Amino acid sequence: MSKVYFASARTERWDYKDSLPGKLEKLLREFDLTRYFEKDEWVAVKTHFGSEGAHRIVRPVFLRKIVDGIKSVGAKPFVTDTVRIKGLDYLEVANQNGINHLSCGAPVVLADGLYGRDNILIPAGEILGEVAVSSVIHDVPAMVLCTHAKGHIQAGYGGAIKNLAMGGVSSKHRIHGWEKGRGAMHTIGEGILNWFSDKCTFCYQCEMVCPLGAIDFVETPNGGEILQWDKEECWRCGRCVRVCQSEALLLPGDDVRFMKSLAEAAASVLSTFSDKKVIYINFLTEIIPECDCMPAADVPVIQDQGILIADDPVAIEQATLDILLKAKPLPQSAADDKEIREGDDILFKINQKPYHIQIEEAEKLGLGSRKYSLVNL
Ligand code: SF4
Ligand code: SF4
Repeated sequence: MSKVYFASARTERWDYKDSLPGKLEKLLREFDLTRYFEKDEWVAVKTHFGSEGAHRIVRPVFLRKIVDGIKSVGAKPFVTDTVRIKGLDYLEVANQNGINHLSCGAPVVLADGLYGRDNILIPAGEILGEVAVSSVIHDVPAMVLCTHAKGHIQAGYGGAIKNLAMGGVSSKHRIHGWEKGRGAMHTIGEGILNWFSDKCTFCYQCEMVCPLGAIDFVETPNGGEILQWDKEECWRCGRCVRVCQSEALLLPGDDVRFMKSLAEAAASVLSTFSDKKVIYINFLTEIIPECDCMPAADVPVIQDQGILIADDPVAIEQATLDILLKAKPLPQSAADDKEIREGDDILFKINQKPYHIQIEEAEKLGLGSRKYSLVNL
């Protein structure tokens, strides 16, 4: 049974040791990083840089503690993420969100290059066949996966499995395009974006949010407008669909397949590491209803709970869910809008997705165990 270490976000004394950064330092010491990382070994600190407007990410102060912890055992850390928008813009987003060499104490690099095409095709399972894993994550011998636990409109819950899968795989492969990238998880078939003009309010949010300019509204001869979509350029990230509040856009998908494909891609990413070379830190802080890649972060739906560390991705996900589902929904939040009550499955009620399949499937694929023992700091 895997051990999952937990530090609560509650502070009882006005003392640095009782702060969450102070507790993270202690967690890292107790967890004993010498069991995982060697002197001079390069260690990726994989996080999510967020987006312009989505500021509720894993804060740089925590990344700094992790970097310092890795350095204290003689290994060489760097902070990284795969590109979500064009690389130079994404580095600027990281910088605006406070993630840079100075704040983190380590280089901040893009895991799949400025164009998101530096990746390597590796075998996946029955659903995906092959996936394009970012070259940095593929090649680095060790990794700390830093994950902001939250809801997600498509995954229901976004945690470590999703961070491995969507975060370790590039948007596109140089030759095979989106079909070997994240888009292969998001959609099915040819991934044709459907637009329903009768539902469209012409708010243009989809056009504004598209990182590739693949959506354009053009005038028709009768004075109307139609949506034009660049099928070749689009990497099927689904952001346009997620921001559309009128259900006027649809990328064909299948929830069960999506959850299973996340576990499959996570397994592929992990297959590039030797045993016990990846550790997981889940931040149960600023638990928002949606993904860190959205153009804005709503207020949290669950109060900060704390930080978990484990070397088993399935165990840490189960422990995270167990803690989140016991928490009270916060007032004046999306949970309140949906009249979610204490004891309800808040993650399911917010996005109506069978998120638990991700974790069950990851266990079936042998990534870890849902049975764990919680060690309270
Ligand atoms: S799925 Fe939508 S937002 Fe994403 S690249 Fe394609 S058109 Fe743009
Ligand atoms: S986001 Fe939806 S409603 Fe707004 S312009 Fe795009 S398709 Fe139309």
